[in-house]
Amino acid sequence: KIIGSGSFGNVYLAKNTLDNKLYAIKHMEKNKLSKLLNSLKGIYREIDIQSRIEHENIIRILYTYEDKESFNLVMEYAQNGNLFHYIRKNKGLSESQTFQLFIQVVNAIYFLHKNDLIHRDIKPENILLFNNKENNESDKENNFLIKLCDFGWCVKLNGEERKTFCGTTEYMSPELIDHKIYSKEIDIWSLGILLYEMIHGYSPFRPNKAKFDEREVFENIKKHNLKFGKNISDRCKKLIFNLL
Ligand code: ADP
Ligand code: MG
Repeated sequence: KIIGSGSFGNVYLAKNTLDNKLYAIKHMEKNKLSKLLNSLKGIYREIDIQSRIEHENIIRILYTYEDKESFNLVMEYAQNGNLFHYIRKNKGLSESQTFQLFIQVVNAIYFLHKNDLIHRDIKPENILLFNNKENNESDKENNFLIKLCDFGWCVKLNGEERKTFCGTTEYMSPELIDHKIYSKEIDIWSLGILLYEMIHGYSPFRPNKAKFDEREVFENIKKHNLKFGKNISDRCKKLIFNLL
């Protein structure tokens, strides 16, 4: 079964016939990759970085294989899908649940930054939800274990300057948009957008229109046109404001 789709292929749910356990396989087609010379380099980097990382809030690559047509990354399977769908389904989350989930994303980013890695594509689609073993039956809200995925844009800072234009429009920081040299702070900015979106159910700089216009989003980001919803606590607003 297809459980996700990306620019280079699908993510499939798979069962290991030896132990009957479920896994997710990110299947990337070489003909789609080879059209972009840089993306091949990106795949090797994604595999190299992600298979070395061991952190409770980061998806593990368990196994990789390639054939003539494709690269395949076998990962642990997130039963509850991604955070994007969860936020949309609930039309925004309570501050207490947001705190419980957001702090786990912060943990993952803190770990990456400590190891001189920048993720460069933090957004709800790249955050996966697992059942939490410590879940208490009486909890009203689901107490998920969170894991960050999609290391397609992740890089190691080797002292060299970074200025590749990458990531996702609504999560891009002003320095990225301006094609300036940037560093780890771009992830901190994305965390601010993420926190806003978790609480509100929509992202802060996206115009309230059906038609998506990238230039309009960029203008809003640069104008720092930040409006908060009515029921957001002052502490939460301050945290979002400080991250951005
Ligand atoms: P892309 O680089 O194309 O964005 P991702 O690695 O982000 O690919 O995967 C695309 C989507 O597939 C994710 O947004 C998520 O919904 C789903 N997905 C990816 N990995 C897993 C996993 N291990 N378990 C469950 N769903 C996953
Ligand atoms: Mg992704």
